[in-house]
Amino acid sequence: MTELTHMGKKSHINNPKVLPIYLSSVFSFDDIETLDKIYNGEEKGYIYSRINNPIYDSLSEIMVSIEGGEACRVYSTGMAAITTTILSHVKQGDHIIADSVLYGGTLQFFKEELSRFGIEVSFIDFRKDDIEKHFKENTKIVYTETISNPLMEVTDIERIAKISHKYNAKLVIDNTFATPIICQPLKLGADIVIHSATKYTSGHSDVMGGIVVSDSDTIDKIGKIGTIYGASLSPFDGWLLIRSLRTLELRVKRHSENAIKLARYFENNKKIKRVYYPGLESFPYHNMAKKIFSNEIFGGMLSIEIEGGYETVNKLIQALKEVKFVPSLASYDTTVSYPAKTSHRNMNKEDRQRIGITDGLLRISVGLENIDDIIEQFEKALQKL
Ligand code: PLP
Repeated sequence: MTELTHMGKKSHINNPKVLPIYLSSVFSFDDIETLDKIYNGEEKGYIYSRINNPIYDSLSEIMVSIEGGEACRVYSTGMAAITTTILSHVKQGDHIIADSVLYGGTLQFFKEELSRFGIEVSFIDFRKDDIEKHFKENTKIVYTETISNPLMEVTDIERIAKISHKYNAKLVIDNTFATPIICQPLKLGADIVIHSATKYTSGHSDVMGGIVVSDSDTIDKIGKIGTIYGASLSPFDGWLLIRSLRTLELRVKRHSENAIKLARYFENNKKIKRVYYPGLESFPYHNMAKKIFSNEIFGGMLSIEIEGGYETVNKLIQALKEVKFVPSLASYDTTVSYPAKTSHRNMNKEDRQRIGITDGLLRISVGLENIDDIIEQFEKALQKL
């Protein structure tokens, strides 16, 4: 039955409307010269899916067009995109300036992993501290998030980019919370943009992925190191991410419309001490958000601080019926997360409290539902406290 190994390709005669998935770990060649030319970059083609795959290029093409860069690489998770990007830019003895409020996994990488390789990281508050004081001759990377997780602080990317370039450092922005529908950091002067594609790029809690967009030389450099570390995206997940991107703009607009309504509801509820949402006029980073965001929308993520700390938050989570407690974000349904025990659980309590991630902080990822239903659910749950 040798047919079993060769058959099945005859029907491939015209173009499908939707991109096919190349679930092939490797590609074949007619001769050694062809393989050699592709390896040397003299001819376009694919060799092995840890290096590249057509679906990665299709996904990259879309991301480059919406982020505004020149090239892109995709990875198996957001953390893979972050670690590969950083490790391809630093060596022993180098220095990084990182924001003190970042996604917990990124903080852990900077604090615990990079020190093992002799790379120093200074943590500062990019909005309150004088960043310029912290540059050294060996500073290679400056790292922050467009909208910080979980305090929703908005960074002045243009200003930080100018300062970073004065000291020949590259500015890396994690744009996961904002998405390019709301902010395009490369257009504001950033050098590299990263996404946890697991979040809004996917939007359905069914894919893990990471994306890096930058200029061609930077992406070549990241791509070479990425091939060694090997955190490649599954081609099937790449295909799902493309499918999700078709509705990204629609989804982000709806998430944002819902989030501002929910934020205003919380702002007027006496049980809520504080609401963290860039779309609220009362929020300290509202003007900065207005300056650097497009489309007059502010994203689907918000946090609230509840009187009473851990016990009260736990009661609220139990009282919420359809709003699920999940340690992730950016899906089609509204979910809540508790940063002190999820994204920032590896931080010691004092550091957490100092930067504002208190035991009363609940992060909300606002979904695509009819927001009146969600407000009603919060209203009923809050009444039980
Ligand atoms: N960046 C941000 C802002 C995140 O929220 C996360 C995960 O929650 C990551 C990066 C890491 O992404 P992943 O979980 O896909 O590795």
